[in-house]
Amino acid sequence: MNRPKKNLYIKTYGCQMNVYDSEQIALILGRDYDLTDRPEEADLYLINTCSIRRKSEEKVLSLVGRLKGLKNRRPQMLLGVGGCVAQQEGERLLQRAPHLDLVFGAQGIYRLPHLLHQRLESGKAVVDTSFSADLPYISGQVTPGAPKKLVTIMQGCNNYCTYCVVPYVRGPERSRPAAEVINEVQDFLRQGGQEVTLLGQNVNSYGKGLADGLSFPGLLRRLAKLPGLIRLRFTTSHPRDLSDDLICCFAELPPLCDHIHLPVQAGSNHILARMHRGYTREEYLHKVNRLRQICPGISLTTDLIVGFPGETEADFADTLALMREVAFDAAFYFKYSPRPQTAAAALVDQIPEPVKAERLARLRTLQEELSLASNQRLVGQFKEVLVEGLSKQQNQQLCGRLRSNQVVNFDGPQDLIGRMVWVRIEKANLHSLGGHRCQP
Ligand code: SAM
Ligand code: SF4
Repeated sequence: MNRPKKNLYIKTYGCQMNVYDSEQIALILGRDYDLTDRPEEADLYLINTCSIRRKSEEKVLSLVGRLKGLKNRRPQMLLGVGGCVAQQEGERLLQRAPHLDLVFGAQGIYRLPHLLHQRLESGKAVVDTSFSADLPYISGQVTPGAPKKLVTIMQGCNNYCTYCVVPYVRGPERSRPAAEVINEVQDFLRQGGQEVTLLGQNVNSYGKGLADGLSFPGLLRRLAKLPGLIRLRFTTSHPRDLSDDLICCFAELPPLCDHIHLPVQAGSNHILARMHRGYTREEYLHKVNRLRQICPGISLTTDLIVGFPGETEADFADTLALMREVAFDAAFYFKYSPRPQTAAAALVDQIPEPVKAERLARLRTLQEELSLASNQRLVGQFKEVLVEGLSKQQNQQLCGRLRSNQVVNFDGPQDLIGRMVWVRIEKANLHSLGGHRCQP
């Protein structure tokens, strides 16, 4: 007789990588647990964490503190912290929060059934922050019928940008064999899926150390041939490793969407060198021009950091000038946050907090101007939209994305979810578009 399943609640912080990891957790524990969106009903409450900036880490620690109350009310509930903060803090987390049952690092997710068993058998909290060479990715879909899927193609990073904690909390770069990636995508397409986003910290260096010798453009070419794949995306691209071969894929491969996220971080050569990014401002601009030559109208988004140690007003002005020159369609921007173990945290010329805040405000004003102008250029155009679900902002409206990645909200029946429709863009907001459904 089948035992009734227990309830699993997962709170996810951070990037798409963490969203993917949470999906993997749900699949790995799927035999014994069903996902719930009601934390107060959880038998197992897992927090999948991010430590990229101190603020992200503080949010996690504050939630763990608040959950003491729930744990007191539901003593049978197991509470675990996984991901980057867990990897970084390990045993120290248990000392700060003795009500935790489980602390597991970036790769501990694949050992979760064993760790839970260990916790129940021993009655003691369990900590696992070890790294292993091979990762057993689990194939499957958390939401059956969902039109799009994230597929991890590599883990970790070897770049050691001087501000970044990722190589320390996610370990060295390891690519996943192409055959596994292709199988996972094929499975998804057989279930009616249409859009796949390939994930990795630096997808452009995919393939190193693999026996099959397939490069990232090679993998894209193989995937683009799969019947049923309508949209293919990838993130993140490191500008240094963006090859001309990869740029040409945007013209060559019909499913490859006309959007690239290409984090520049800064516009000053002095700061780029100190960040250990491996490209200059001029090289970045050259690649942007080449992308626009090969794929006119390609949407370009980026990440920016302000207040990196030693950043002068002139360096910052270079960043603003580069943003204007490229006219990014959207950007994520952050105040530099010193992270444990990283080289930049030890630099003596740290920038005072008020200066960082003031520069961030100026940068935000410029990017908002650029983002709105970019969205306004779409007004009046007819665009194909993959309907993803209900809009978070506009109750009752549907929500989807253009091939160039902008979010669009519009009226329509719910049975359109998962389908491709045509929409006339009527309204431009800062972070989304509004439209009306129409015939092509
Ligand atoms: N691998 C990607 C790359 O190379 O661009 C992005 C990795 S990271 C998860 C996402 C973004 O967080 C980075 O692009 C950077 O802008 C930002 N970031 C990373 N470390 C940071 C730090 N210490 N302070 C502020 N922002 C940071
Ligand atoms: Fe961090 Fe740099 Fe690796 Fe991106 S490429 S994850 S910013 S070290």
